[in-house]
Amino acid sequence: MAALLDLPPPPAGNGGFDAAAFDRAVAAERQRAAAGAYEASCEALEQLLKTCPAGELQRRARTLALLAHQYPRLGHLTASARCATEALGLAERLGDDGLLADALTSQCYVYAQSLMGREALAAGMKALAAARRARDAAREAWALNRVGVAYSSLENPAQACASTEQALEIAAGTEAAEVLFSCHNNLAYYWLRRVQEATELGDAAARTEAVAQARRTAEQATALARHSGSPFQVAVAVSNLVNALLAGGQLDEALPLLNEFGHIAHDHGYRTLAIEADAQRAIFLRQKGEPAQAARILEALLRATAEPPPKLRRLLVRALYETHKACGQYREALGWLEELGGLERQIRRDNLVLQTEVILIRDQVEQAQARADSAAADARRERARAAHLENEQQRLREHARALDRAAHEDVLTGLHNRRHAEFALPLLVEGARMAGQVISVATLDVDHFKRINDNHGHAVGDAVLQQLAQLLRHRLRSADLLARIGGEEFLAVLVGIAPQQAAEICERLRLAVAEHDWSAITPGLVVRVSIGIAGGSAPLQAEALLNRADHALYAAKRSGRNRVHVD
Ligand code: GH3
Ligand code: MG
Ligand code: MG
Repeated sequence: MAALLDLPPPPAGNGGFDAAAFDRAVAAERQRAAAGAYEASCEALEQLLKTCPAGELQRRARTLALLAHQYPRLGHLTASARCATEALGLAERLGDDGLLADALTSQCYVYAQSLMGREALAAGMKALAAARRARDAAREAWALNRVGVAYSSLENPAQACASTEQALEIAAGTEAAEVLFSCHNNLAYYWLRRVQEATELGDAAARTEAVAQARRTAEQATALARHSGSPFQVAVAVSNLVNALLAGGQLDEALPLLNEFGHIAHDHGYRTLAIEADAQRAIFLRQKGEPAQAARILEALLRATAEPPPKLRRLLVRALYETHKACGQYREALGWLEELGGLERQIRRDNLVLQTEVILIRDQVEQAQARADSAAADARRERARAAHLENEQQRLREHARALDRAAHEDVLTGLHNRRHAEFALPLLVEGARMAGQVISVATLDVDHFKRINDNHGHAVGDAVLQQLAQLLRHRLRSADLLARIGGEEFLAVLVGIAPQQAAEICERLRLAVAEHDWSAITPGLVVRVSIGIAGGSAPLQAEALLNRADHALYAAKRSGRNRVHVD
């Protein structure tokens, strides 16, 4: 079973879809169909389907399966084929065995009605397997019921009966009234076919048995139909019962039922059934000994305004042939027999057309589904590509940020670098001027750093620079700018601090450096710094301020190092 891996996202604009309302509406239409209003129900379901977003696979599949189940009642086999095949594709994608059974069960029926017996049987067997996997007795019964229909289309009414009996046993344990009815009703139909078979073979015993079974099952179907309240079911069941009674020669019992069947069919506009009812009346009259009246009714039906469909005409023409033959009117009988031959050929042609249509629909739906799947795969690839691009961009952004950081950061100490200081100092000076604040800058240089490198190596020199950077960072406010602007030269910018106060702060810094335990880096290590300070509140230039601080530093060096000098 194809597992549901990933599906295209629901298309945009399904925000307005109310799933609960949709489910309620579908349930209501199911009820409406159960009451016999198939046409209205199918129309409403098609409309509902249009409101159901493409991403709602489960709901679409369920609605399509329901339509596929109902369309044959209206004689719309190709519509049923379309819905069944579409539902089947969705059910396979969803990996839903219950839906799969529903779709295959409907497909089986369409194939059987299109006289594609082998395909029908294959679909029915698959439906049965899916229903068993789903452990759903009602669906199993439906599948077996349709396997029976498939056998019937393969001209094997005995096997059809066997499958349907099996379906009945399973259906009996469920609450599924419709399938129970369908089984009894189909059994009645198969037994009537067997009556015909036995008549043609001249097997009187088999005929008697078949008539009795047909009557028994038709009576059961009729009782169930009356209980269900569906006029369509009642009409169909009573029609079979009338046929069984007529076959058994029980004309008096047949008459009231025949009248009832005719009324229901006419009242509810079941056109095909209404014609069948009149044809039955003709057969009844023929058996009653009124063949002329029977022939008149049948001929009137054939000439009726809208020409009946070929299968119905075949029923009428056969009845006319038998009626004239029964009266010894062989010339008329022969005429109808020839007409019957023509009709048989037409029906075979119609069936071929129908079969081709059903196969085309299947191929078209499968192709459309393949296209949709490949479009979904394209969309997935596109999404993956977009995600990759987004990742790449994110990486580039991070890289740029890193580059930016590197451009402003001193790698050895983690402090800002000279470039950043040159960028930031003018902004700080200008900011202080605008805020009317004082500002001081201090340049700090390690005394005799060359000697440290020379005596202890560059690694120790580096460690000194790193520890010194930390020490300065911890002792200055985080708002103060601190940068390494040369090899062993640092810059501190103290906003809001006058040079004199800066001198005190820097003196504490100098002491802290001198008192720091540098021997932790290497025994005997001593580090001292000199600091030059410049600042004030008058309009200042960053570059000039830096130069003045450098001068002060130079002065500190000249006057003996390890000291703070204010410009
Ligand atoms: P003064 O007290 O006059 O400042 O003497 P000094 O030795 O500190 O000054 P000078 O400018 O003569 O020497 C600075 C030395 O700093 C030279 C250079 O090799 C070293 N230096 C510069 N950058 C680094 C660095 O990143 N790591 C190490 N270990 N040494 C560095
Ligand atoms: Mg120096
Ligand atoms: Mg130095």
